[in-house]
Amino acid sequence: MLMRMMEHPFFHTKQILVVDIAPKKANDRTWCFWEKEPDIFEPVVCKSWRKMSFHTSGYSAVLDLTPYQYKMIRGVDFYQHVYERATDFPNIHFHYEAVKAVHSSGSQAVLETATAIFTAAYIFNSILFTPIAPVAGTYFLWQHFKGWEIETEEPVFDADRATLMDFRVSQEHGMAFMYVMPLTATRALVEYTLFTPALLEAKAYEAALQEYIGHALGVTAYRIIHVEDGIIPMTSHRFPEQEGRVWHIGVAGGQVKASSGYAFRFIQKRTKAIADALANAQEPPRAAGFNTRKFRFYDRVLLQVLTRERMTGADVFEAIFRGNPVGRVLGFLDNETGLADDIRIMNSVPTGIFGLAALRDLFR
Ligand SMILES: Cc1cc2nc3c(=O)[nH]c(=O)nc-3n(C[C@H](O)[C@H](O)[C@H](O)COP(=O)(O)OP(=O)(O)OC[C@H]3O[C@@H](n4cnc5c(N)ncnc54)[C@H](O)[C@@H]3O)c2cc1C
Repeated sequence: MLMRMMEHPFFHTKQILVVDIAPKKANDRTWCFWEKEPDIFEPVVCKSWRKMSFHTSGYSAVLDLTPYQYKMIRGVDFYQHVYERATDFPNIHFHYEAVKAVHSSGSQAVLETATAIFTAAYIFNSILFTPIAPVAGTYFLWQHFKGWEIETEEPVFDADRATLMDFRVSQEHGMAFMYVMPLTATRALVEYTLFTPALLEAKAYEAALQEYIGHALGVTAYRIIHVEDGIIPMTSHRFPEQEGRVWHIGVAGGQVKASSGYAFRFIQKRTKAIADALANAQEPPRAAGFNTRKFRFYDRVLLQVLTRERMTGADVFEAIFRGNPVGRVLGFLDNETGLADDIRIMNSVPTGIFGLAALRDLFR
């Protein structure tokens, strides 16, 4: 939760207050994403890969990601880094307490806690005050996952090659794949990920991880050194990005890509656009324009195909990776391709299924 406090009626003080329920000290998530050039979080990237594997039951490929690199950041390193950078600035302040509500009142944004009311020119809110749930008339899947960082007795991993998706796991619950991020020859984060309408019982994630590590990776002697899990909404529902002086950011601002569940890079790009505007004394920009609408349309079509199970996730991603250089696919998944490359991607998936889904979306 970020606030930008204003000394009426000017912006000249540029005071920023960060309100969070508690200091962020836990390693509660691992972020992975891809990029071409090192960005501001490069100092906390703990591992990067230029090669990744992709597997379905009928297809295996080693993908050379050039010009991209796939990168991993541990949550705790990110929080520490951001906090240290922020404390270099005397105009950034921290307040730790649960936020009860945020709202807009005339030209002010208002934040309420049990002990205080703060007012500001803007509030940038990343709190989900209402839990996300499927909305009638929209497509919705949960991306849910459990990951174990394991340490093996024997060297078994190729630390230069991660596994982006391995669909050679049971698809009984719907689209499911394993994701393997080796840090060294004896350490890797192995994550069981599903895109489905319903969550599983806790023991089903563990059973799938045990099965994959034991049988697919052939590792019997290992210990679990870190556990993480998450639930990310993949939805065609449009979240309001602005309510008066309150701007929603992150997951609360709809920054999860509906068809992939990736959010990190989208959040960073959106946050930078907002920060650039504020630095130039402009209003935060709205996420609008042809490119935004174009990629939202693609997301809805792909999410519709996956939700209606017109094609399995394994077949969709196999068709895309088989039919395109990986750089084009990563650019497309990052909402950064132009129309010519978009059309090449579309030509790699069955026109009947995707064309019908596109028409259904256009005439809904
Ligand atoms: C385990 C996990 C792994 C993920 N991995 C990836 C990945 O590899 N790649 C990717 O692209 N995306 C990933 N994501 C998705 C997404 O990038 C993250 O969820 C990201 O942290 C979202 O950022 P956010 O700012 O929206 O929310 P958060 O990071 O959750 O921040 C919300 C903040 O609000 C605070 N807060 C909440 N309620 C209150 C309250 N009432 N009062 C005060 N403060 C409050 C919280 O303490 C928190 O600091 C992952 C998500 C999870 C959960």
